[in-house]
Amino acid sequence: MFMDSHFMRLAIDYAWQFQTLTLPNPAVGALIVANNEIIALQAHYKVGMPHAEVLACQEALLYFFASDIRKREILSQAFVAQKEYFTCSIPQNVPADSFVQSVIESFQTETCSEKIYDFLMRFHCGIFYECDLFITLEPCNHHGKTPPCAKLIAAIQPNRIFVGCSEPTSKASGGFQTLRNIPITQNVLFSEASKLLYPFLVWQEKSHFTLFKIAQRLDGTYHNGVISNMDSRIFTHNMRCVADYIVISGETLRHDNPLLDNRFSIAPYTDSKLPTIFVLSKTLDSKDLQKFRIGNRNVHIARNVQELPTSGFIVIEGGFAFLISLLEECGVQEQRTPFIVDSILGYIAPTLSTFSNALCNEEIPIDVLQRHGFSLSHTYSLLDFWQKKAGRKIEDLQRNIVYWLIRDRDC
Ligand SMILES: [Zn+2]
Repeated sequence: MFMDSHFMRLAIDYAWQFQTLTLPNPAVGALIVANNEIIALQAHYKVGMPHAEVLACQEALLYFFASDIRKREILSQAFVAQKEYFTCSIPQNVPADSFVQSVIESFQTETCSEKIYDFLMRFHCGIFYECDLFITLEPCNHHGKTPPCAKLIAAIQPNRIFVGCSEPTSKASGGFQTLRNIPITQNVLFSEASKLLYPFLVWQEKSHFTLFKIAQRLDGTYHNGVISNMDSRIFTHNMRCVADYIVISGETLRHDNPLLDNRFSIAPYTDSKLPTIFVLSKTLDSKDLQKFRIGNRNVHIARNVQELPTSGFIVIEGGFAFLISLLEECGVQEQRTPFIVDSILGYIAPTLSTFSNALCNEEIPIDVLQRHGFSLSHTYSLLDFWQKKAGRKIEDLQRNIVYWLIRDRDC
């Protein structure tokens, strides 16, 4: 039981690294264990891309091919026996060894969900029988942008399946039914696995999700200069690639003159299209926008929260003063405006302000956050996760603490 929750926690933690980047899909993690060894850890990365389970099975098959002589032989024989399947992609008139190598190299670089899925359906060859599969969410059972994961898992027949929480939408549910012939343990770390779904569920309910991003130093300060580390910056820029809107305050515009671009984003998020910017300001004149670095972008000025967008993925960037004023203006429960902050993503950098005139004691306004129904959902630290993914030389070794607060949906 301890190991079950240990493996599930790893899958949940991994999925959190991609939280909101998957919108409007949920963040999902999947892990495969064989002979007490983790052989695959994957997540859903972006809408339209393969689901976590499909990627984990791809990684596991590649692992078996590389490190298990018996399974490598079984797979090689299957590739050669079904040579015609690769007619369009792999040269046929080559020695068997080269042919098999080409097949596995092509599978290794394959990113199309449909193709990975087809390959696994055709060539699983019983190699997954001894595997335990950990998934944070019940496998989908419908053919959406990608084929149903439940059908694939039923075909590969792992030894056991552990699932964090059930699929909450009727459209994709039914996975457990499809998998009824395989032993399944449900609700492993149910509460933690459910929290992963929060942005997805908010989106299901109202077709938009609003996140406030904030960064602070150890002394609570957040003015003057860059605070977050390179990993946090890559994540933020990835998020700008999938966001529809960025909202900042007039004060941030005047004080920081930010670029709000996505130059640090990495594949698969990199996108030339940048989100529309809203500046919340009572006094800013549209003629003055040209003085700022965002002057050539698609920028709107909102005089109050009523004029802020209420569709798509909205990212607000600012400090605690802006957060508090925004929360108070949005109101609580019955008096609430259509625009509300659903979630808060915070970075804490282990540095102190070097400015002697820095505003100090800017602590997290716990009382205001509690009044508005926010509670801690997840924390982790970021060191070089994204820098490694980007293939960058690791230069920034300042670990950032990341915290996610989510709003009680009844508050
Ligand atoms: Zn799926």
